[in-house]
Amino acid sequence: MSFVRWLNGRDTMTTMDLQAGAHLHRIAVLGCTGSIGRDALDLAARHPDRLRVATLACNRDVDGLLAAAERFRPDAVAAADPWAAAMLAGRLDGSGVKVVSVVDAATWPTVDVTLVAISGVAGLRPAMAAAEAGKRLALANKESLVAAGATLLRHAQQSGAEILPVDSEHAGLFAALQGVRRGSLRRLWLTASGGPMRGCTAAEVAAATPELALRHPTWPAMGRRITVDTATLLNKGLEVIEAHHLFHADADAIGVVVHPQSVVHAIVELADGSLLMQASRPDMRLPIAFALAYPERWAPPEPAIPPTGLPDLQFQPPDREAFPCLDLAYAALRAGGTAPAVLNGADEVAVARFLAGEFPLGHVPRLLEAVLGQHRGGAGEPDLDEALAADAWARERAAAWRPSAVVRGARR
Ligand code: MG
Repeated sequence: MSFVRWLNGRDTMTTMDLQAGAHLHRIAVLGCTGSIGRDALDLAARHPDRLRVATLACNRDVDGLLAAAERFRPDAVAAADPWAAAMLAGRLDGSGVKVVSVVDAATWPTVDVTLVAISGVAGLRPAMAAAEAGKRLALANKESLVAAGATLLRHAQQSGAEILPVDSEHAGLFAALQGVRRGSLRRLWLTASGGPMRGCTAAEVAAATPELALRHPTWPAMGRRITVDTATLLNKGLEVIEAHHLFHADADAIGVVVHPQSVVHAIVELADGSLLMQASRPDMRLPIAFALAYPERWAPPEPAIPPTGLPDLQFQPPDREAFPCLDLAYAALRAGGTAPAVLNGADEVAVARFLAGEFPLGHVPRLLEAVLGQHRGGAGEPDLDEALAADAWARERAAAWRPSAVVRGARR
């Protein structure tokens, strides 16, 4: 296994050349009405001396955005949904707050740090724009890396934009990797809570209903799509692809371990067998604050867990038979090219269909396998347009997929 490059092309993961110090970070919060966005605004309210909300963007929750705008007085706001954008323009007429596009909100001149907390591949275009514009990218949207990670990183390298992961496992890896030399690494481990279906048999997982799949034991506030993705473990598979791009690690160098307590978020395995673990309360405000404040560390919103307060920590291998989505993601990563974009696009539709009651959870991996099996793409890294075209193709195929189309003898 080889770590071909290193974050920002350096040999040692270390504090990047940032203007450290107690200056004000002016942030764009894209996806401000979702769970990560609301957590970010909570941090902005707690640290008014360090965070200023410069822009806000939502999909279509106009009331949620306006409430946040009233509180934080941003320079500009956006709604991705055209109808919602028109509503916003009407409601903010004469207020002095500009209504702009989501891409403009991501790259607005008064923004230093763009938090992309949009759900799904819809986050790709604004993330790309922020990277091109040289903003610090606090990236909660794993789909941008899954669909077009190489292109996103190339744009960031060209503009000097820093990409800091908000996904808790990747933020944990980034923290644990500080000062570690590339040659000293053996493996990166992502922990998985196991999701709502942990410990269930393959048959029980396959038969699960939306009600069961939406009951997350340790991260109850997450959005619906990601919660279902934790129930299939596809979320962890997408995170493997995300880690591949962020840390330039091959698929073989990234492992997944089930850790039901969700206290240890990431483990760095060194060449001498040492394990560096990053642990904290499962609270998304911690990785968000880390990405916004890096290299500083702020006091946590809730008291930290002292070593004596830690629960008994368990680590188990994932059940790859009950959760075939994990290996589908590894396969897509190894196939390269547009396969990861196809996997994600198909999953967004599969999860929506599952939540609409069209089929049980076990049909999600079947659908993904079928769409990936139909996909013919090169191994070249897709640019933005190619990634979006692959995503659109996958959505079409996923929408057309019928359970009866499953070939007899196909896996599960
Ligand atoms: Mg995560």
